[in-house]
Amino acid sequence: MTDRRTDHGADHGAGHSADRGAELAANLARVEERITRACVTAGRAREDVTLVVVTKTRPADDVRLLAGLGVRHVAENRDQEAAPKAETCADLPLTWHFVGQLQTNKVRSVARYADFVHSVDRPRLVGALSSAAEREGRRIGCLLQIALDREAGAAGGRGGVAPEEVGELAEEVAAAPGLRLAGVMTVAPLSGPYAGRPGAAFERLGEISAALRANHPAADMVSAGMSGDLEEAVAAGATHVRIGSAVLGVRPGLR
Ligand SMILES: *Cc1c(COP(=O)(O)O)cnc(C)c1O
Repeated sequence: MTDRRTDHGADHGAGHSADRGAELAANLARVEERITRACVTAGRAREDVTLVVVTKTRPADDVRLLAGLGVRHVAENRDQEAAPKAETCADLPLTWHFVGQLQTNKVRSVARYADFVHSVDRPRLVGALSSAAEREGRRIGCLLQIALDREAGAAGGRGGVAPEEVGELAEEVAAAPGLRLAGVMTVAPLSGPYAGRPGAAFERLGEISAALRANHPAADMVSAGMSGDLEEAVAAGATHVRIGSAVLGVRPGLR
């Protein structure tokens, strides 16, 4: 859990970066221990779970410190913030994940730095991402974001494709130049039958992943679990956990 609250707004002195580095190192060690313990409990190998640190709302300096501490995967959820940060950090050996709701008018920018987009949820976005990736000469890994609180046809508030529509969307990604179908992603629902039951939600995601892999064996990424529910996600087979506040501290303003 996020057992450490931070206030680093006032201190811009010489010791700040060292203090922040020590703080991030301690938080990372705790998260690493949690992941390791969850893997042991689940009978899984530690290397089967990748830690993706969600750096949204945090400065590029934090990203640099994290890279120095061995972090290799970072995630962002807003292009306006992510694009300059990724550019500032272009010298670092990092894989960039985009995990936020994505509007088609941001796709050209995202395609410049994102190695993976976890929030692919509609055909129009697939088309836009494909064109942008081709223009940039890149191949972007796409995860289908599954809305477990969404019945087919109903509008999902936080984005995501209804489970019934996954197969069709998968075919579109698989056929799109510049894109690679990489797997599935979800956020534990706040409403609907899975509200307050992240473990059950992640088990359902695992079933959806298995069905997808039957047709697309290489689409084996399962992105699930955040600071509050990484144990449930690892138990249910997540291959990528997206951890923000447990590493970086509680974000000012919930986002
Ligand atoms: C912010 C965010 C996270 C990380 O959340 P924490 O609770 O801070 O670990 C993970 N996934 C997505 C999609 C997010 O937007």
